Amino acid sequence: MERRGVLKLVGGAAGAAVFGASTMGNEAEEPPRPERTDEESPPEPSRNEKGEERLRRGEVGHELVGVGAHDLLANDELGELLSRLERESDGAVSVEVVGESNEGREIHSARVGEGDVDVLAIAEQHGHEPFQAEGHVAALGYLGTADRSDVRELRRRITLHAIPRVNPDGFAARQRVNHAPDAPENDPEAGLHTREGGWDPNRYHRYDWEESTLYRNRPEEYPENPVPESRYVVELAKEIDPEWVLDCHRQGPHVDSNGDLIDASIGWPQNPDVPADAQKRSQQLATVLYDRLPEVEECHLTEFTAAGEYPGIARNAHALAGHGSVLFEMSTGTRGGIGYRIQLTAEALLVAALATADGSLHDADPSRVEEIPAEWGTTVNL
Ligand SMILES: [Zn+2]
Repeated sequence: MERRGVLKLVGGAAGAAVFGASTMGNEAEEPPRPERTDEESPPEPSRNEKGEERLRRGEVGHELVGVGAHDLLANDELGELLSRLERESDGAVSVEVVGESNEGREIHSARVGEGDVDVLAIAEQHGHEPFQAEGHVAALGYLGTADRSDVRELRRRITLHAIPRVNPDGFAARQRVNHAPDAPENDPEAGLHTREGGWDPNRYHRYDWEESTLYRNRPEEYPENPVPESRYVVELAKEIDPEWVLDCHRQGPHVDSNGDLIDASIGWPQNPDVPADAQKRSQQLATVLYDRLPEVEECHLTEFTAAGEYPGIARNAHALAGHGSVLFEMSTGTRGGIGYRIQLTAEALLVAALATADGSLHDADPSRVEEIPAEWGTTVNL
C-alpha cells in the first residue's frame, strides 16, 4: 500500500472512531473501522530502500529509536500532501505558507471549515518529535473530505487552522531546536533558551515582544523576536483570535506507578497571570480530551506534570493572550506502533474540533481536570 494511502486510512479510522462509523442518515458509507490501524499497514521494515538512501546521503541525521526514516513525511512530502489535500477536498481544505524557516523551508498552515469560531492546532515545534504532523494531516483530510452531515455541520460552525510542522529545519536536522548555528549559549535567566544549533521555538510565543525576558535583558541585541517559527504561530493566532490553541508534542516513553504505559499526557496553563476565562477554556478542553479520547481509542492519559510557569511557552503564552491553551504530549512508547500514534493525534484534534462545534466544550466542567491522574510517570530508557 502506498504510504499516502495509509495516511488516508488513518484519517478515516480516526474519523470513524470520533464521529461514529454510522452515517447518521447520510449518503456516504464509512469504511468499517480496522481493529487496529497497525494491522492494516504493511509490515514495517526498520528501514526501506528510500530511507537507506537518504541516510547514506546524510539527509537524515540518524534513525530515531524504533522508527525508520521511511515512516515519516519528509518536509517536501508534507507540502505536497497538503497541496493534494487542497485539490482533492474541492477547496474544503486550503493551504498557505505562513513563512520561511532560517534555512528557507516553507512553513505551511492549513484551514478547514468556514465557521465563525476559529481554533488552532500546532505541532512539531520540536523537530525531533515526529508523527504529530502526520496526525494533523489525517485529521484535516477527514474533516475536508468526509461526506457526512455532521462533518459538514462542523465545517459550517468552526474553522480549524493547523500548522502541522512548525519547525521543518529541526525536523531535517532531527533536533529539538530550530536552525540557528549562531544562537548564543543557553541562559534561561537572560531569556536565552537555546541548544547547540538553534533556539527552542517553544519558549518564544510572546504576543508583546517587549514584555519578554530576552527583550527586557537585551533590548538592543534583540529588538524583535529572533525565532521566526514562534513568530509565525503568534502572528496567525493574533489574526484569527482562536478559541483555543492545541500544541502537539512527543514526550519520551513513560510508565506510571502501576506499570501501565502512559500513551499521552495533557497539560494546561500554569502561569498565575493567565486570565480566568482562558484558564477555564483550557481546562475544559483538557477535560474533554481526557473523557472522550479513551472512548474512541484505547489509551491511558495522565497530566503533564512537568509544566512550568514560563510565559513564553505555548501553553502559557496563548492563554496569557486570552485563548484556551492545551498541551498534548504523545509518548514515544505507546500500546500501538506508529499508526496508533498518528491516529491518536488525529483523534485528539477531531475530538477537540467536534466538542467545539457541537458546543459540548462549553458544558465541560473545568474543575474535573483534578481527575486526570497527576502522574507523568517514569521515563524508560530505550
Ligand atoms: Zn516538544
